[in-house]
Amino acid sequence: MEYLEIFANSFVGTVNWTWRSIIFNVPWYNNYFWGLTLISLIVWGLEFAFPWRKNQSIMRKDFWMDGFYMYFNFFIFSIIIAGVYQVISTLFFNIGITANSFQFLDLSAYPWWFELLIFFILLDFVQWFTHVLLHKFTFLWQFHKVHHSVEEMGFAAHLRYHWMENILYKPLKTIGVMLIGGFEPEQAYIVHFFAITIGHLNHANVKITWGPLRYIFNNSVMHLWHHALNLPKGQRTGVNFGISLSLWDYIFKTNYIPNDTGDIALGFDDMDEFPTSFAKQNIYGFGLSKKK
Ligand SMILES: [Zn+2]
Ligand SMILES: [Zn+2]
Repeated sequence: MEYLEIFANSFVGTVNWTWRSIIFNVPWYNNYFWGLTLISLIVWGLEFAFPWRKNQSIMRKDFWMDGFYMYFNFFIFSIIIAGVYQVISTLFFNIGITANSFQFLDLSAYPWWFELLIFFILLDFVQWFTHVLLHKFTFLWQFHKVHHSVEEMGFAAHLRYHWMENILYKPLKTIGVMLIGGFEPEQAYIVHFFAITIGHLNHANVKITWGPLRYIFNNSVMHLWHHALNLPKGQRTGVNFGISLSLWDYIFKTNYIPNDTGDIALGFDDMDEFPTSFAKQNIYGFGLSKKK
């Protein structure tokens, strides 16, 4: 009964929070609904003003489906799943595992900007590693194919991914945060908004490389090659796994940028067998919709 109540409260709480975000009834810096919408409009404006592939339509293939994926993964899915996560964390709490159990680094003595920086770098590395796993293991790749089924690249493709990815990233992210004592800095929203912006720009039809900073920050040229259909020999499971930072790919030698024309075929080998609708793409990974 206790768990049922926790589940219900968390579900209702998330619905309320989302609604209050829509009607501007939350602090602006925590308003991910309008924050995501505003960042999307700005990056879409950049695609319009400075297109990289000039012959690509501003309403490219799958534009609306990817727009739906964006709001589904960010809001609808989190409403559905919030209760589950709350129940799991209560279960762990009841058996004595808390956020402090695996603390490795105590950041509380450092200035806020340093805490924020470590939080950002740690989360980004954990996500880079998770992304590598999504490519290396066939059963995980079946879900990650949704993200790689984009044929024409644009900003909204950033959040086109299977909802199972949320489930797969979450435990590793949680373990990452546990290493710093479950510590989420008050200013974590800066990290989240920064990650959304970089992620949108990585997928945008705008050529931005950040100059010499490209060895630190991921960018559209580098990430387009992550989506390339033809991968180099010896790196068939993927290249450029970076999320916000490109650094990890340079450190672990998974970087690959043969040119910056922007004009390359995207996808994977059995693309013609991959479903094209949202519903079918979301059951594909479970082996339920092998053909279109
Ligand atoms: Zn990938
Ligand atoms: Zn991508």
